[in-house]
Amino acid sequence: MSLISAKDVTVCYDAAPVLSHVNFSIESGEIVTIVGPNGSGKSTLLRTLLGVLTPSKGTVTPKPGLSVGYVPQRLSVDTSMPITVSRFLSLPHRKFVADQSHALERVGVQGLETRQMVDLSGGQFQRVLLARALLAKPDILILDEPTQGLDQPGVAAFYRLIEDVRNETGCAVLLVSHDLHVVMSASDRVICLNGHICCEGAPTVVSETPEYRALFGLGTQGALALYQHAHDHVHDGDCDHHDHAHAHEDHANA
Ligand code: ADP
Ligand code: MG
Repeated sequence: MSLISAKDVTVCYDAAPVLSHVNFSIESGEIVTIVGPNGSGKSTLLRTLLGVLTPSKGTVTPKPGLSVGYVPQRLSVDTSMPITVSRFLSLPHRKFVADQSHALERVGVQGLETRQMVDLSGGQFQRVLLARALLAKPDILILDEPTQGLDQPGVAAFYRLIEDVRNETGCAVLLVSHDLHVVMSASDRVICLNGHICCEGAPTVVSETPEYRALFGLGTQGALALYQHAHDHVHDGDCDHHDHAHAHEDHANA
């Protein structure tokens, strides 16, 4: 059984559909990246798969007993209410100190327990969010633009971390990437969303050159992958107005 499956899902906020006829499923250990322009329904899809939003049509079925670690796109930390990393990790459920420090160590930010959340750098903040998600011992990690605000080496390092976590724990990973061209080589599947699923497929490894790899801080292991795909359909009606240029830029041949 799939970890989560969605069948012919349509989601409307007011009258207008934001997602139409989406079919989706994710299996154990799979890494799936969703790309798409702003407003294309990426966060809406994640929230629907999480069960936070109810589809107006179709069904979402999680595997019974599924444990999910979720990192939302926006998490505002109220600067008027100081909160330490340790306290943050304890929300909503109290966690053992040892588990906390292990989770922080796992994501490469050990020793931050007593620091204020607002004092963390962008990269540290994202890693603490990931640590919190990992404390749920998830079968699936769902991450909404986890690399926003990180510089290029930070993005690459974060992707490597996600891949390591998947390899160690076997959890599936579903993430939204706003780095339109750069997705993990480890992505088993890339889904291009624009109100509906435009297309999906395996990412294509395009560059092994040292210069390219150095630029993205990739070292000698792993690879930078760009998603190469072609559209096999004409967009209908309400999705046409979106900027869809990224899907047609063919960097894979560069
Ligand atoms: P993405 O994550 O791809 O940028 P979203 O899923 O956040 O896209 O949003 C998809 C569309 O739905 C956008 O047009 C957005 O303005 C609209 N939308 C998102 N959340 C709400 C909401 N709570 N109420 C009404 N419209 C919303
Ligand atoms: Mg979003």
